[in-house]
Amino acid sequence: MERDENELLTISAAEPDAPSREPPTIRRLEESVVNRIAAGEVVQRPSSAVKELVENSIDAGATSISVIVKDGGLKLIQVSDNGHGIRYEDLPILCERHTTSKLTSFEDLQTIKSMGFRGEALASMTYVGHVTVTTITDGQLHGYRVSYRDGVMEHEPKPCAAVKGTQIMVENLFYNMVARRKTLQNANDDYPKIVDLLSRFAIYHTNTSFTCRKHGANKADVNTIAASSRLNAIKMVYGVSTARDLMEIVASDNNPARAVFDMDGFISSANYLAKKTTMILFINERQVECTPLKRAIEVAYSATLPKASKPFIFMSIRLPPEHVDVNVHPTKREVRILNQESIVNTIQDAIESKLMSSNNTRTFHMQTVNSTMLSHLGVKKDIQENSSTVTKSQKVPVNKMVRTDSRDPSGRLLAYMQDRPGYQSEKVPDLASVRNSVRLRRNSKEAPELTSIHELARDIDSNVHFGLQDIVKNCTYVGLADENFALLQHNTHLYLVNVVSVSKELMYQQVIRRFGNFNAIQLSDSAPLVELLMMALREEDLDSASDENDDLRKKIAEMNIGLLMKKAELLDEYFSIHIDEQQNLTRLPAVLDQHTPDMDHVPEFLLSLGNDVDWSSEKDCFQTIAAAIGSFYSLQPPVLPNPSGDGIQFYKKIVDTGTNIGKESNKHDDASDNDIDEELLAEAEIAWAQREWTIQHVLFPSMRLFLKPPNVMATMEPLSRLLHLKSSTRFLKGAEAKIRIIKFNINDNWSDLLLDIPY
Ligand code: ADP
Ligand code: MG
Repeated sequence: MERDENELLTISAAEPDAPSREPPTIRRLEESVVNRIAAGEVVQRPSSAVKELVENSIDAGATSISVIVKDGGLKLIQVSDNGHGIRYEDLPILCERHTTSKLTSFEDLQTIKSMGFRGEALASMTYVGHVTVTTITDGQLHGYRVSYRDGVMEHEPKPCAAVKGTQIMVENLFYNMVARRKTLQNANDDYPKIVDLLSRFAIYHTNTSFTCRKHGANKADVNTIAASSRLNAIKMVYGVSTARDLMEIVASDNNPARAVFDMDGFISSANYLAKKTTMILFINERQVECTPLKRAIEVAYSATLPKASKPFIFMSIRLPPEHVDVNVHPTKREVRILNQESIVNTIQDAIESKLMSSNNTRTFHMQTVNSTMLSHLGVKKDIQENSSTVTKSQKVPVNKMVRTDSRDPSGRLLAYMQDRPGYQSEKVPDLASVRNSVRLRRNSKEAPELTSIHELARDIDSNVHFGLQDIVKNCTYVGLADENFALLQHNTHLYLVNVVSVSKELMYQQVIRRFGNFNAIQLSDSAPLVELLMMALREEDLDSASDENDDLRKKIAEMNIGLLMKKAELLDEYFSIHIDEQQNLTRLPAVLDQHTPDMDHVPEFLLSLGNDVDWSSEKDCFQTIAAAIGSFYSLQPPVLPNPSGDGIQFYKKIVDTGTNIGKESNKHDDASDNDIDEELLAEAEIAWAQREWTIQHVLFPSMRLFLKPPNVMATMEPLSRLLHLKSSTRFLKGAEAKIRIIKFNINDNWSDLLLDIPY
């Protein structure tokens, strides 16, 4: 009788609970049970069966592979190839476990070139499905067909007509694993996964043609012919529009102390738009996943093109075979590579500089907002009619360029302080291009003739602290000291600057300057004021019982909406805050190019428009609106806690240990990762990296250009006075530079800061 998985689970889960403390008896599992458990690991779902079969075809030297799938692979998977076929004599043991033509000794693993090597795939399929093989080898007049069950032939191979190669049919997958079959039936059909898989194979193996279709369908969902180039293959599979937005990329290293590898591939440019990352990775010809690499690339994208979409990546990495351990994952989905960290860093850097240089020719209104809350409100690229289409490649006359330290140690602090692996290493940003973009919009039409606005502008001018202004104009950005403070160097002094308050002031001044002349950030789905205001009100009084005050809140929200609707025209005309007739927020002003506010603060912002704005006099009204926009656009820390350091606690999932018994069999060895909410963590990492990038590449360049620091800001103090400072000067061995090592203390953490300061 066949037992199913559930039965196995209940037995093993019940025994430890038995009241007597007698140890349970250990029994040897029946071989068929062992095999079925093992099979469930190798063939986890229909798409993994397809992967194994197609890899066998590739190993057999096929140049044409076609796949037919019925019921998401549960009813039928059929893979036909024109490879070398299988010898008649080998058919009896073909589907036994650990029979393979690809490996003889363990040492062969070091240099293995074929996809398969364990001799487990076909065997596994016979334990969880019905396998039929039809094959013919070169020079034979006819082929053979034979079916298998539980590793053995069901009958002698029958002669049959056959075309060159092998056809393997797997029917009724998981017929004997009730639980697995159920979850797969409930879950989304595996067919899209199979199409995805073949698409990836197709663009890597450009000399092989692939087709994939549903049983009975006329049209194939993947259909490629051998292509002349990788880009052509990508065109065939992912379409011309994707291929158009790709750039070629290469990276390599040949230093045995770091890493030895070379990589080539294609990555999407700033013009590519997608909601999800597509990462197609081959390491030594194997299609694999590598989460750290994917993460590093996403960070590079969000840091370089802060508002761009998720990337499309095709990458082929080659390493010396002895640097790759292919035997770490039951489905070979992952491989382990030597010096992974260094390789990931090198690739990340290569991508960053590629993006930086290509970024110059991007039309910069093509930006999307990336944020936690608005991911469901959905913000799309700015398509305002009046938005400029100037590109950043426009030259700025040299005499108008902002002066910076020629060696530009900007961001250097990062290099010393960050020890997160795979994270941004020191980069050479294309500051000029950022600066260009910042100054481009300045020659727009004159502000409307409103005396109150002129007065506000004059207030700013007459209030400038000139000492500070000199510092701001001629300083160099060193890095972030903590979440709120950035370090600036001016001559031989270091200054701590509160990023939040400086950015608030800068944004305020920009609003006054651009008054009536904003480009717009368009929200793709309009955001209903009611919901946003309710959200803000609920957040305001978190401690009062949530529902009982909702009526009151609703009233307040409605009053606010009434007010905002009355002022809608003014908000739109002067501040580009557009509220439509249906009481939805649809547009926001672009206050600084390349910067979109953190959309998590929209509710709070709307509430402050209602509550904090003084609508009585024109001047006060404009000033308070500008201040509200200023706080909204300021560079506050993201809502999600900073995952580096203690913040990581926030991302640990609460693991309910009681329900996990018996589910362990499918897990592979990195179980500790499972306790972390990876998606949220990735989101947080991106948000923080993005903010850091914006501070360095948008806020500081703009600040040098535009900020008129008011007298009240003159509390920026030389670092030596603010912090307990111990400094010493040393000559680094072999280096020319004079290095000053400064110990500084932020929140009770002593850190070393190394600066090569001329003095
Ligand atoms: P592995 O690929 O790890 O060797 P498999 O169970 O996938 O193990 O396959 C067992 C053997 O069957 C392979 O080593 C190969 O010799 C043969 N084989 C499987 N599929 C094909 C095919 N499509 N064409 C030719 N030979 C095949
Ligand atoms: Mg195989």
